[in-house]
Amino acid sequence: MVFLSHSVVYKRLVTGIVENGCTLDKIAIQDESRMNKKESLKVLVAGPRGFCAGVDRAIQIVETALDKFGAPVYVRHEIVHNRYVVEGLQQRGAIFVDELDEVPGDAPVVFSAHGVPKSVPNEAKRRNLMFVDATCPLVSKVHREAERHFAAGYHILLIGHAGHPEVIGSMGQLPNGAMTLIETVDDAKDFETNRPDKIAYITQTTLSVDDTADIIDVLMRRFPSITPPRKEDICYATTNRQEATKAIAGQCDHVLVIGAPNSSNSRRLVEVAQRCGAQSTLIQRATDIDWSALAGVSTLGITAGASAPEILVKEVVEALRQRYEVLLEEVITRTEDVSFKLPSMLTE
Ligand code: SF4
Repeated sequence: MVFLSHSVVYKRLVTGIVENGCTLDKIAIQDESRMNKKESLKVLVAGPRGFCAGVDRAIQIVETALDKFGAPVYVRHEIVHNRYVVEGLQQRGAIFVDELDEVPGDAPVVFSAHGVPKSVPNEAKRRNLMFVDATCPLVSKVHREAERHFAAGYHILLIGHAGHPEVIGSMGQLPNGAMTLIETVDDAKDFETNRPDKIAYITQTTLSVDDTADIIDVLMRRFPSITPPRKEDICYATTNRQEATKAIAGQCDHVLVIGAPNSSNSRRLVEVAQRCGAQSTLIQRATDIDWSALAGVSTLGITAGASAPEILVKEVVEALRQRYEVLLEEVITRTEDVSFKLPSMLTE
């Protein structure tokens, strides 16, 4: 390759020298079109990503309730943590409320996928409300596990994040004091009991697999007879999305995670990508992309949390195509075929 000094280039521009059959006018036009040409960007899309079986079921429950009972159908809390989904259901006649006392006596109400404390269905029954529970069956499995341990006289350690609706729902399955929340490795180090043979642990379904393993290691070391869940509580969807994100993040400069700021599993995907050495940003949709943060990025990853619909992934890819020459590749680490039945009161 021959590099020309600035002065040589300048001379050629002003004298109109013919080079490779092109006049300098043509060369200038080619240079301009080269400048307008989009930069190329390799985009790795992780799979599995987006909707899990529990989210899919919860949305179907609200949609089917609207079809069966007519609008309005009340929904206690965001049915899943995604604004796009919530707004779509609102347009169809769903009304989202924080608590049951906002639900009139003659309207059906749906409980969100994250699960609810026992006091919620109890109150609904007391008021004779027609309610449909959209709690994910994998969250319900954790609830039943907690009840079983409690009935056997165990104190339960719940590994999870304070304030998350799933944790509030899980703790609310048992009387106050029956469970201790363990959020960090330090909490696991500090926990004390005078009955180390009578403790069991359960976990939130959407945690970081790696962080949780660190916490469990500490608990197992300190309390070797602690009772673990019969089957892993972190759900298949959380595990698979973290694994798929790891598979792309090592090859990416930056990973965009599509999901809501209050979505636990989406936030964990950002952490997973960052631990693999990539920059990572959580975005709700394409309009949230900070283009300046992508300057200099040659390989970009995309994944989506379990409550983010595929249409938002397509929207982000389309926005990238507006600016870049996108070379798209999907990296699939696993296929999923999980589905859950709708409650019988909606199907009969
Ligand atoms: S993330 Fe897991 S536990 Fe939560 S709704 Fe989806 S499948 Fe169920």
